[in-house]
Parts: sequence; C-alpha cells; structure tokens
Amino acid sequence: MSAAAEPRPAQLPLPGGSAGAGVKLYPLLSGVARGPRAWFEREEGRLARLHSIGVGVSKHDFVDVPVVSFLVEHPSAGVILIDTGLHPSVAVSPRKNLGLVGTRLLANLRMEPEQAVPARLRARGIDHSDVRLVVMTHLHFDHASGMSEFPEATFVFTRAEWEAATEPRGWMRGYVRRHFDHAFDYRLLDFESRDVDSYATFGRAIDLLGDGSIRAVYTPGHTRGHMSVILRLRNREALIAGDAIYTRRTLSDGVLPTRMEDEHLFRRSLKEIQLYDDTRDALIVPGHDMAAWKELRAEYE
Ligand SMILES: [Zn+2]
Repeated sequence: MSAAAEPRPAQLPLPGGSAGAGVKLYPLLSGVARGPRAWFEREEGRLARLHSIGVGVSKHDFVDVPVVSFLVEHPSAGVILIDTGLHPSVAVSPRKNLGLVGTRLLANLRMEPEQAVPARLRARGIDHSDVRLVVMTHLHFDHASGMSEFPEATFVFTRAEWEAATEPRGWMRGYVRRHFDHAFDYRLLDFESRDVDSYATFGRAIDLLGDGSIRAVYTPGHTRGHMSVILRLRNREALIAGDAIYTRRTLSDGVLPTRMEDEHLFRRSLKEIQLYDDTRDALIVPGHDMAAWKELRAEYE
C-alpha cells in the first residue's frame, strides 16, 4: 500500500451522539447494473459456475441490480453516509475510476451523472462537505467507488476489511486501490476487541455513537471484514445488510450467491440476519435486489 492512507483505530464512541436519538434514512440509488442471476443467486449443477459469469445465459436472463448508498440524518451527529455508491465520472467514462476489472464486472451499467451521491445530496440542499461520517459496509468497488468525493469526512470500516482490501492481490477480490488510497481520516473498527458487545441476534456489535442510534454489526463472509448497519428509526429499526445478503431470497430461503470469500462465515452471518428478521419488525435492505429496492420509500424516520 502506498503511504497516502494511514488508518488509525477508531476512538469509540465517535463524536456527536445524543441520548435517545433516532435517525432518518434516505436510500440513494447510484446506478443500475445488469448481471447473470446466478451470480447473485447460486444455481446447482454442472454449468452453474459458467452461468454465474454469464456464459451460456441469454441476455434476457440477466437481472437488474441496484448499486446503492444511504443517507442518514442524525439529530446531533449530522449527515452520515453508508457506502458511497459510484463516482460521478462513472456515468461518463467508467474505466478511469473502476479500472479494467470493475468496468468489466459492471459492463451493463446504467448511471446518469445526477445519480452520483454528491449530486443526490445537493438536490436535498446538502453539500458534500457536510458529510461528517461515512460508514463502509465493505470496500468492494461498487460500494467504495465514490469515496474520493468526501475528503472531509471520517470513514469507518473494519480492520479485517482494510487488510483484505490492501493485500497485493486485492484487485482479484473486487477491490480497486485508487478508491481508498487517500490521505483521509480512516478509522478502523476491530470486532475482536473488548469494546465489542452483542446486540439483538448479532454476536458482535459496536454502538458507533454510543447512543444506540447507529450500530455496526459484524457480518463477515461476503468479504473478510464485511459489516452491516442497524439504524434506530422512530418506531422500528432498519438493517442495512450490505452484501451479507444480495437478495431477499438469500434472507427467506437461504439461497447463497456464487462467490463468497468465506462460505462458513457467510452462513453464520446469514443465520444472525435471519434470526434478527424472525424476531424484530425491522426494515431489512439487501445489497443488490432491484425488486426490494423498488419497494423502498424515499424516506424513513
Ligand atoms: Zn460486495
């Protein structure tokens, strides 16, 4: 890794929390990709692997998948993002930001310049420099592409994710170094540390602001250091699952994706999410499910 990025351990709680706070949630669609269904929902059988990368699959059997980010408004901590979606330049010329691998994987991407997160925020009267905190579920290119747009923010992600993303062969695992190689304020969460508590059905959780409004819960498996985020809305909770579940079928039927960094960990994280779903009346948002995305409201409070 070059010298630009020097993450430090997060000092918990992060500043800005206030007792009893609830947050508002605004789902932001950053673009729509298209890919073989079997990539997201694994098939069985001899041709499953080929089908997952689109070989022998009619383009009519490709599915639309949302590439997303979330705006969270906290009454005292201010404007917070979960993931950053796609960089504005991707709408015009994807290669420079996404690189060769990312451009190939998002070959059928549809994105308008005004869908980039900074433009989405501007449309709501929020300047990109108002974003104080960016919580990254993981550092895959379709979540981290827009990180450079928020130089004034503090970013939090897990130590395990940073280590995975900055390995020399990280590019083979869906990471694009230029997305996170900035001298920004990066803070590492360590789910092995003693600050970690359990929450609801999750064995490992971190109350980021110390007021219970935003909790990171550890859901590794999709990547080595993946985490999901639980938000306290006024009357219920929302779980931003990230890629711990691509689609609702993973949640309801346990349908696994084709590619997982660690299938054992993925299954364990999935079990925790399924139990959470069984026991709470929470809004659960999967990472790449177009039908589920279309049912979301523009705003939750
Ligand atoms: Zn991912």
